[in-house]
Amino acid sequence: MRKLTLALVVLGLTMTACASQEAAPTSDKLRVVAAFYPLQYAAQQVLSEATASVSVLTPPGAEPHDIELTPQQAAEVAEADLVLYIPGFQPALDAAVEGRMNALDVTSKIAELPGPEGGTDPHVWLNPLNMAAIGAAIADRLSSAPEITSRQQAFSAAMDALNAEWKTGTQSCEQQTLVVSHDAFAYLAAQYGFIQEGIAGLSPDAEPSPARIAEIARLVTERGITTIYYESLVDPKVAETIAAETGATTALLDPIEGLAEGSSGDYASIMQTNLQTIRAGQSCT
Ligand SMILES: [Zn+2]
Repeated sequence: MRKLTLALVVLGLTMTACASQEAAPTSDKLRVVAAFYPLQYAAQQVLSEATASVSVLTPPGAEPHDIELTPQQAAEVAEADLVLYIPGFQPALDAAVEGRMNALDVTSKIAELPGPEGGTDPHVWLNPLNMAAIGAAIADRLSSAPEITSRQQAFSAAMDALNAEWKTGTQSCEQQTLVVSHDAFAYLAAQYGFIQEGIAGLSPDAEPSPARIAEIARLVTERGITTIYYESLVDPKVAETIAAETGATTALLDPIEGLAEGSSGDYASIMQTNLQTIRAGQSCT
């Protein structure tokens, strides 16, 4: 039964994706390459270890916006059965998958928000319902094998439950403005009724201008903001400077662009921690 299911999976994929098959795989597992951690997580929830081996292009501890692909990774992308990515997030990967039938834009089922500097905002995964949509896009692309369908439904239910917890936990918060290190939280803010103010723009590497830093400091004072959020993969010094100037404190709010090195958490547990952080920082009751 398992063999048959797998055969169907592979057949379905080959028909839809014309994946390159020149090197005979050593096992009949699907080779799935995820651009960065949240996509890896979604793939691993939907596809069992027996069905697929899922690798990730952005290593733990690395910030994914600006990855470059090694020649080995470029080959991995070319030979994979399926490559999961978000267009506009990682230019090097956008170039590597251009015209490739094995690439899947996981945002196909998601209503994307505009980015602050034009285009679309790629940070869709910070709304758990979008994670469910990513799982559904992966399952749809692969096959209607019963195992994949049931795992996808379970993942979707888990993300619904996480969203419900967030809705309840953020129902009544004194502070609406979220001051974050870079503009990663627009989907989270839209879903749970916050206003995002990013110190840096869509990419964490962009140095904020002195004018922007002064503007944030003014906002913090005017709106009585008590907490400025920093990230695990980005230097917190600007957040700390503004906090020191305004008397606010800093707290780690993880945009889950990657796992920190040695982290034992996963998407669901980090989102739980983020919820507790926000409840404290935004004075939610
Ligand atoms: Zn980002």
